[in-house]
Amino acid sequence: MNPTRSLVPASLSRRAALRTFALGLGAAAWLGRAGAQETPKPTPPAAAAPPPIQSESLGGKLTLVTGVGGNIVVLAGDDGGLVVDCGVPQAAAGMAAEVAKAAPGNLAVLVNTHWHFDHTGGNERLAKAGARIVAHDACRQRLSTDQVVEFLDMKSPASPKAAWPLVTCAPQGQMSLHLNGEDIVLTAVPAAHTDGDLLVHFRGANVLHMGDLFFNGFYPFIDYSSGGWIGGMVVAAKSALALCDDKTRIVPGHGPMATPSDLKGYLAFLETVSDRLAKLRAAGKSEDEAVAAAPTKEWDEKWGKGFLPTERFVRCAWRGVVKHG
Ligand SMILES: [Zn+2]
Repeated sequence: MNPTRSLVPASLSRRAALRTFALGLGAAAWLGRAGAQETPKPTPPAAAAPPPIQSESLGGKLTLVTGVGGNIVVLAGDDGGLVVDCGVPQAAAGMAAEVAKAAPGNLAVLVNTHWHFDHTGGNERLAKAGARIVAHDACRQRLSTDQVVEFLDMKSPASPKAAWPLVTCAPQGQMSLHLNGEDIVLTAVPAAHTDGDLLVHFRGANVLHMGDLFFNGFYPFIDYSSGGWIGGMVVAAKSALALCDDKTRIVPGHGPMATPSDLKGYLAFLETVSDRLAKLRAAGKSEDEAVAAAPTKEWDEKWGKGFLPTERFVRCAWRGVVKHG
């Protein structure tokens, strides 16, 4: 089943569709309703109701929160709650209430896996609730200045200062946090989905949050205007696998929980498509010729029918390869 298909109404305005595209599963229908307000056309029943905010225990002190944008993980405990990502701005109140249920009491830390608004939309709210924001150097830089996501034709103005990360990790650096009986290792990978992505590994619980370095079940968005490219996605997926054993549970930025076996399949896809695009580029082919070469053909049936159709994915990945040089 591909749940994304029914979540994207055909009547969305282009702008709303682009925003929906950026969000993945959780907020797609939620913003679908916002889109319906921008257009006089009726929306199908599937898009009429926002997806519910849902929580699911990952065992011990860990909870997965979905339905507000990117997937969120919450670690509870006496040292204060730790949250990884915080959804879209419009869902910040609901997100904060759900986080408070999962981790009652003070918040200590909020980790941003990267700067995109569907992962950092609750920054200001959670910072004001006491969380110190930790992120990649480039995530802070982008949150503190106006941004454009070129492929989605989407402007993202600078966030208010309260939403900026206070502690940052250098490119390709690593840092560890120790609270609530957990050791949480943050690994900054080379530019991949953006130029400021972190892997977040809860070593005790053996849960790995990959942010948008992994879209599970459909083609990933690669934000080349933020420095991302598919060659970096390959490196990042390898870095993630190096942190895994057979029992690691993987939280993708969008889509359902995954296994290391799922991640291996995703890495094989990234490697193959990256190689093909590099060869097409070396042969002097154009973007249209790259699309015509069907570089994703083995995966189109499985992953190309969601909110990011095959051709859009290939064009996006191609532009990242071209921009990377
Ligand atoms: Zn993203």
